[in-house]
Amino acid sequence: MDQKKRLLDGMRGRINESVLDAMSRVPRELFVPEQLRDRAYEDTPLPIGLGQTISAPHMVAIMSDLLDVRPGMKILEVGGGSGYHAAVLAALTGPQGRVYSVERMADLAAAARRNLRAAGIENVTVVEGDGSLGLPEHAPYDRISVAASAPKIPEPLKEQLQVGGKMVLPVGGGSQELILVTRKNGLLAEEKMGVIFVPLIGKEGFGERQI
Ligand code: SAM
Repeated sequence: MDQKKRLLDGMRGRINESVLDAMSRVPRELFVPEQLRDRAYEDTPLPIGLGQTISAPHMVAIMSDLLDVRPGMKILEVGGGSGYHAAVLAALTGPQGRVYSVERMADLAAAARRNLRAAGIENVTVVEGDGSLGLPEHAPYDRISVAASAPKIPEPLKEQLQVGGKMVLPVGGGSQELILVTRKNGLLAEEKMGVIFVPLIGKEGFGERQI
């Protein structure tokens, strides 16, 4: 059995089949540095340069599962990194949907665009910028996924979430919680599990000097 199949089979029963199917269609080896390709299907975060990481597959699976993405949705991802999680979200929303992925580091944003192109994924737009402010020009979003931890839920992200929409994000400094936010009449925030993410650095995140 190959490593990818073993990894995804290990999540079966805990993660929705649609998420496992999307992950089976995205080649994670194209999103990690070349010298780490043989480790692409280990269930671990891997360094992607500039002190940043591609999240572990189980974390991408859990966050995508919590978001309950349906075909055709418009999704905002904050903290694009390698572009891998954006690719999985893109596979879930399908050709009628779109993912906007914001990354603050120009070199990582450029690498993410290259990786997505190499993987043949066309429904992701990578934007360089401070994702703690969201991306107002394409708001509101059906789903928002944040891959870096904020001190609190950024106000602009709450505002840019569609009514009926869902957002998943890590919150906290030392100890972090993964939060699922559902917007109905008001906002419902549910703590899901303890996690470890890099800090969200920006106006509505941690300041450069706070980390
Ligand atoms: N989702 C990514 C992937 O699949 O490779 C992993 C992301 S990594 C855990 C977190 C990323 O968030 C880093 O690339 C970091 O540069 C980025 N980041 C931190 N603060 C940010 C901000 N305010 N806006 C956009 N990106 C930010």
